[in-house]
Amino acid sequence: MLKTMNAKIARRGLMLVLSSPSGAGKTTISRRLLDRDPGITLSVSVTTRPMRPGEQPGVHYYFVDMPEFDRMAGQGELLEHARVFGNCYGTPRHTVETALSAGRDVLFDIDWQGMQQLAANARADLVSVFVLPPSGTELERRLHSRGQDSAEVIAQRMAKASDEISHWGEYDYVIVNNDVDESVQAVQAILRAERLRRTRQVGMPAFVESVQAAL
Ligand code: 5GP
Repeated sequence: MLKTMNAKIARRGLMLVLSSPSGAGKTTISRRLLDRDPGITLSVSVTTRPMRPGEQPGVHYYFVDMPEFDRMAGQGELLEHARVFGNCYGTPRHTVETALSAGRDVLFDIDWQGMQQLAANARADLVSVFVLPPSGTELERRLHSRGQDSAEVIAQRMAKASDEISHWGEYDYVIVNNDVDESVQAVQAILRAERLRRTRQVGMPAFVESVQAAL
């Protein structure tokens, strides 16, 4: 009986941010989480970087040119935005706000700069997770094995990794990605607990009143 009633209690959605240096496995973790949990959707960012082989517009990113990115940022259409590896990235505001008010959770694959902006503007909705690689050597191996980027870009990403990792202490949770399945389970556990936070359960006062009224 309690289970049935619980399911009806309205909840505000949360913003789950996963950040890591490139190659730490964050994208794989995100994909598996999205497959396993229908309650969470991916925030598709806009970017000025060129499309990579295998990427689809509107699925991985919305690919825009610089004038369009500037227009969106100038008109407040982005919830956060940052420059990463010389390209601009940003989160469209409208889709995120609609999802949160409808009680749907949103997953963000963004960097520490984006996380900080979300923390400044929407702390109550934010749950942040930093994904660390098992070691520096393993990170370098993964960057090479992706085969998506030029040697120059890989070198740039390696140099950037240590800067990205220096922000791990600003996150709510930290995971060392030794095993993808275990990491996904860890993120699911975080999500499960965070969904139960009293402050997110906006329908709870009415529910409690109904319980008390019957006593
Ligand atoms: P990539 O070009 O490899 O897809 O992404 C490069 C970096 O940009 C990653 O660390 C990714 O998390 C970050 N990123 C992707 N989208 C956004 C966004 O909308 N905002 C911010 N701040 N970072 C993003």
